[in-house]
Amino acid sequence: MWDQPAQAAGTTQNEEHGAGQMWARVIDDAQRLQLPTKFLKALPPGFIHIEFDDLRTYAAEYHPADHRMVLDRSLSFNAAGRILKPLSKMTHKELEVFYHELFHAYLDYLTVIDAQSDEAGQRSDALLHFATGQQACRYGEVQITPILQRKDEVESRYLTQAESWEALNETWAVFIGWAVWNQLEVQHKTKQSMFQEPRHATHWIRRFKTAFETGEFRGYYVPEDPDERRLARKRYLAHQSQLTLEEAVVLMRQVLGFQDAFIERLMTSFGSTGASSCSTAGGRAE
Ligand SMILES: [Zn+2]
Repeated sequence: MWDQPAQAAGTTQNEEHGAGQMWARVIDDAQRLQLPTKFLKALPPGFIHIEFDDLRTYAAEYHPADHRMVLDRSLSFNAAGRILKPLSKMTHKELEVFYHELFHAYLDYLTVIDAQSDEAGQRSDALLHFATGQQACRYGEVQITPILQRKDEVESRYLTQAESWEALNETWAVFIGWAVWNQLEVQHKTKQSMFQEPRHATHWIRRFKTAFETGEFRGYYVPEDPDERRLARKRYLAHQSQLTLEEAVVLMRQVLGFQDAFIERLMTSFGSTGASSCSTAGGRAE
């Protein structure tokens, strides 16, 4: 399915083998920690190039142009900046950051695949289809908080294509990181999966409701307009423009691979059917 990018054509078999091993280890580690692997398994080994740099501990970057993930050195083995340390050695916060970046890589991968399948006349991936629908419906015009600390002061902005895609991408990645961190927290004591232990599921769902009510699932974008960028390097979305329940459910199902029974329980606790708030995003969005 995945064609090697041009710049990777010169990679040696050894390097390819190394990337394959690294990726297999990531998935294996995640499984052992009972963390989501559905979208990781969909990513071909070697798609992401992981690098390390002296960033701030919880900072990380993903560059779609060359599928490059830059992580802080503390996430590397012995902090040597060469290979990724085992997931079992990462703190919950580090895993949150790592999964956030992995999600960016996944959306990037779907975009690449889409460009290829478009040439072949095939339909786009269901998640990407949903994403473009939401981008148009929910992220074209957003509410922002001009001053991050003053959550109640909001302003409206019309976003460009690149800005709305970034706002969606960041909002969704915030949720993925959040979901993983909270799964780790609720599973921590007993090491039992929250899909096997109903009490853990209850805790996670309760945390989700609180986060949703307080508006934690908010992304940001970098303004394209130089004048706007002079005012603020990043614009943060306001509570009104946070992730919707519908988006969260799609991400739980299609990206994280959460069990149906768990998702149904969550929706029941919200008294929601998960119906779409975007009439344009109907159809294949589930
Ligand atoms: Zn991000």
